[in-house]
Amino acid sequence: MREFDLIDLIHRRTALARDDVRLGIGDDAALLDVPAGQRLVACTDTLVAGVHFPAATAPRDIGWKSLAVNLSDLAAMGAQPAWAMLALTLPQADARFVEHFLDGFAELARQFQVALVGGDTTRGSLSITVSALGLVPENLAITRAGARAGDAVFVTGTLGDAAAALHALREPQAHAPSWLTALRERLDRPQPRIAAGLALRGIATACIDLSDGLLADLGHVCARSGVGAEIDADALPVSLVLREAFPADRRRDFASAGGDDYELCFTARETETTRVAEVFSTLGCAATRIGRIVPGSGVRVHDADGRPLDLPRHGWQHFP
Ligand code: ADP
Ligand code: MG
Repeated sequence: MREFDLIDLIHRRTALARDDVRLGIGDDAALLDVPAGQRLVACTDTLVAGVHFPAATAPRDIGWKSLAVNLSDLAAMGAQPAWAMLALTLPQADARFVEHFLDGFAELARQFQVALVGGDTTRGSLSITVSALGLVPENLAITRAGARAGDAVFVTGTLGDAAAALHALREPQAHAPSWLTALRERLDRPQPRIAAGLALRGIATACIDLSDGLLADLGHVCARSGVGAEIDADALPVSLVLREAFPADRRRDFASAGGDDYELCFTARETETTRVAEVFSTLGCAATRIGRIVPGSGVRVHDADGRPLDLPRHGWQHFP
């Protein structure tokens, strides 16, 4: 396959009509309509084989995840996804790989009506850079900077499955195949919390998506907001599978420091906690209260009895 055949394949496999796309794939750049009163929300994330996903990951899952991690960033801002761009670096023009990759990518794109409007195709070690573009009404974007002392801290869904999957993959014989499959699903197919992000507009004071591990990412919120946080390690929500597959101390480590969760961690005024519960009762994903924002700086962790805990907290860093 030549470059232009590949681009043609990408174009056909991801076709999705949006009337705010004036010009999509095929010109030097895309032309997109941003409605009056809305802000454009833009983010980008790269996935490198062997770093962001195990090299043996199914191409379909790589496609899904490359878009999912970007939509997760939009979710954290309270944005509605609209468009995406895809810079694909491939060792060779492997049509089968690209087809399967695009099936995963397009499956998620269709779920949120995201149109692929451009990109770049080059040769090199497998690496995928996706940019996602979304919309948020002026003044309703949720940032990392709005947390205040006294706010409650929440997370969506459950934590730690993806990190547990990475761990279990290193010793697959030690784990029941059904557990491994369930954990692996969370690692390979994160579900971006778009509905949660939209529902949190006007409610959350700050929000971040969890890619590097809860303690590290909540630390970013604290730093940007100029506050500290106190977290109850025993309140961290974990899945049934994680409960069955690992003892309590391991679960706690995965949930507090493991990466790749792609859940949202957000803060809200204490007076809004009932509203948070109401909103999430119809969302099909839980929000669990895990602690509170305090004056000062840094994230402190304690157990259910209030005893301080010293948990690993580094999260993922590319340049440690
Ligand atoms: P240029 O040389 O002007 O950068 P290209 O030949 O790289 O243009 O791309 C031609 C068109 O195909 C452009 O509209 C570009 O956005 C699109 N495109 C190229 N690669 C991809 C890709 N991997 N995914 C989506 N669109 C792509
Ligand atoms: Mg180009």
